[in-house]
Amino acid sequence: MDFVPGSHAQRAHTCSMIGEEGVGDRRTVWVMLIGAHVDNADPAAEAKDRDADVLQFFLGDPQSWKAPTVTEVDTGGVPFFVHSPYVINVASTNNKIRIPSRKILHQHAQAAAAFGAQGLIVHGGHVAKGEDPSVGIENWVKALERMELPLPILIENTAGGEFAMTRRFDSLARLWDAIGHHEQLGFCLDTCHAHAGGEALVDVVDRVKAITGRIDLVHANDSRDAFDSGADRHANVGEGQIDVDTLVAVVRAAGSPAVVETPREGQAADIKLLKSRLR
Ligand SMILES: [Zn+2]
Repeated sequence: MDFVPGSHAQRAHTCSMIGEEGVGDRRTVWVMLIGAHVDNADPAAEAKDRDADVLQFFLGDPQSWKAPTVTEVDTGGVPFFVHSPYVINVASTNNKIRIPSRKILHQHAQAAAAFGAQGLIVHGGHVAKGEDPSVGIENWVKALERMELPLPILIENTAGGEFAMTRRFDSLARLWDAIGHHEQLGFCLDTCHAHAGGEALVDVVDRVKAITGRIDLVHANDSRDAFDSGADRHANVGEGQIDVDTLVAVVRAAGSPAVVETPREGQAADIKLLKSRLR
């Protein structure tokens, strides 16, 4: 994302970077947006509650195949991303999963764009045990060929499974070779998923950017489980198995907005900690 000047979140819609740049007497302050995944009932209040300057939420039940059920979005001017339902698996070889996955991905993309979201996050998906992952990649190619995308979709790395498209970065690289040229494609890096998925966080931003050329959003989550455990259980920052300094360094290096998808009670503290370390 480009850098946009602004000392205030509302002015910093696509802004992402921290720092100051002095030209003569003029100074421009770059703000790194830090926020949280919140309930969609009253995002403006949730943002205030946590001092979040970027938000993410669902537009319906994340376990449902239904079209978005949210009819109104008011974030109080805070920029936001939408997370698509977890049931979506565009890579699946099963028609009964793949076809409705495409359908609701498209529906959520249209709704997210209409509400003014910065992007729509979707997991990379997987094929079934023993199946050829290249078929999953082919399914992504076909899905994107057939879909008019009114906003960027950010494919996220996932934590588990041996037949996932975006757990291991060798697989991510094969996927990106096939679809990375798409103009509405971006990437969302989840630190819990990388850690639990077996990708070291120390140089993760460099390794991701070598593949995708970009990171549009960080899911700054600690992990309850061990490195390469394959388990997807998020923890508040500093309460899991990821070193806090490493987590902060990932967010800084990514240079993108970051949201925590952590237990609700600790989100305000997570945001405060990240801001204090990054500003
Ligand atoms: Zn995530």
